[in-house]
Amino acid sequence: MIDAHIHADTRPYEDFEKMAISGIDKAITCAHDPLRMTTSEVVLDHFHRLVSNDVKRANENGLKLYVALGLHPRSISKNHEIIIQALPNLLQNNLMVAIGEIGLEKTSSQEINVFIEQLKIADDLKAKVIVHTPRTNKKEVTKTTKKIILENINPKLVIIDHIDFDIVDDLIDQDFTLGITVQPLKMAPQDAVNLLKEYGTDKFVLNSDISSSPSDPLSVPKTVHQMRLADFKEKDIAKVSEKNASAFFNI
Ligand SMILES: [Zn+2]
Repeated sequence: MIDAHIHADTRPYEDFEKMAISGIDKAITCAHDPLRMTTSEVVLDHFHRLVSNDVKRANENGLKLYVALGLHPRSISKNHEIIIQALPNLLQNNLMVAIGEIGLEKTSSQEINVFIEQLKIADDLKAKVIVHTPRTNKKEVTKTTKKIILENINPKLVIIDHIDFDIVDDLIDQDFTLGITVQPLKMAPQDAVNLLKEYGTDKFVLNSDISSSPSDPLSVPKTVHQMRLADFKEKDIAKVSEKNASAFFNI
């Protein structure tokens, strides 16, 4: 199985063992805002931790970790141009499989500009992108997010993440891949099963988004278990828990 969106830097060593024992063999750890991201030096140190310490901690437990690096809307640092300019070079690292997570939180003009700059780089380099959608004002912000994506990048390069019943209808007819974050307080495994029953398994990838907020490192295997109990075919279970992510990230 692949957990397509985690924040390994916020989790203890033992979580990676639990994930590996439960059948997760690969995960993508995404850049976010674990500190006050006041300067680009802080952001770059965060990136460094993901590609070095966290990759090592996960690998030691049998979990192959890949990274997505980029400027999260909550971590736009003062001198953020340095980060934007560094992205093409960072993408040379084989472990970096996407720019992410990026996107909009409040749709401020600064957020929009930083988002567009990163989408353009990804489109030019044919790099994959993981796009965050917020908890607050989700439907409205996602409409703006969708419009900006369609104007700036081939939608086949994009995962739009944290999909729920409120926004799925606005996105399902486009060429995006859609991420379902199975997480306490957001979406239980059974909710994910209901969504997949209604919309099929072709477009979706499962993830836990484990972070310092309430989250469950076993979200993906627990959802797979619920899909088996709900009589999904093994080939459809494989699509959302591994095959779609493997094809998208080329891992
Ligand atoms: Zn996240």
